[in-house]
Amino acid sequence: MSDRVYIVTGAAKGIGLACAQRLVGDGHRVVLADMDVKSGAEAAKDLAGETERAIFVECDVADPLSVHNLMAETISAFDRVDGVINNAGIAIKGGALDMSIEDFDRNLAVNLRGAFLVSQAVARHMVKEIEGRDDRSGLTDRPYAIVNMSSINEQVAIPDYVAYTISKGGMRQMTRAMSIELAPYGIRVNAIGPGSIKTDMLASVNSNPEAMNKVLKRTPLGRPGHPDEIASVAAFLLSEESSYITGQTIYPDGGRLALNYTMALEGE
Ligand code: NAD
Repeated sequence: MSDRVYIVTGAAKGIGLACAQRLVGDGHRVVLADMDVKSGAEAAKDLAGETERAIFVECDVADPLSVHNLMAETISAFDRVDGVINNAGIAIKGGALDMSIEDFDRNLAVNLRGAFLVSQAVARHMVKEIEGRDDRSGLTDRPYAIVNMSSINEQVAIPDYVAYTISKGGMRQMTRAMSIELAPYGIRVNAIGPGSIKTDMLASVNSNPEAMNKVLKRTPLGRPGHPDEIASVAAFLLSEESSYITGQTIYPDGGRLALNYTMALEGE
């Protein structure tokens, strides 16, 4: 068992839930934050079992007051925070010609401003704790880290999800800028850029063989990813195992970004 405490946003299901499960499985304590109270509370209860190693906090990451409350609840429950996975995200369909301002703003508010607000709150707490230390020589003894759940869409673009694509492009630069600002404190900031992962966000593809074939033709490993395969990267980026990595994005994408063409599918 470790005494470390991690916040995972968007942890009620999908990739966030897999991250929370992985971290609790690794012996850490986890705060599951989500707008979906029913699923989030159930997930935290399942994970905690008889222990108090997982709690749920209702949070809309786009709302500064809600994020303030998330930090307050975390500190009140565990009195420390060692890292965060900024995973909460939505994808609203719409291209540049037809997207409404409201949809554009909401997509950016959740994916980008939300990750910024949570990172800022967590980083302020970490910096305060570090500045209060008498001896800062052992900065890497407590490996503070921030992990942003970005997407391959920080590199490539889906034009009919223009706001989503923009949000992930912004996340790439947020990761870089914050990694430099926080480096003197030993706080590392990295991102994960998944390809196509089997969650509800990919529901329209999962339930449509033609759409799935399109995805697989662009996926050298020939299958969508599993949320656990993203959680393992997040666990690595939060741990000492990645102690010299900061400002980077790791792409668990089944080879998508390496491919400059389409693949023939079996039987074609
Ligand atoms: P999902 O839809 O299965 O889960 C998203 C979770 O975020 C839900 O529990 C939802 O309630 C929560 N959420 C949404 N808005 C929120 C808000 N304002 N505040 C707090 N919680 C909120 O999605 P997923 O596939 O697990 O995606 C998780 C992250 O991974 C997202 O940032 C997404 O962009 C990224 N991602 C997913 C894929 C994929 O193929 N599934 C690929 C690349 C990146």
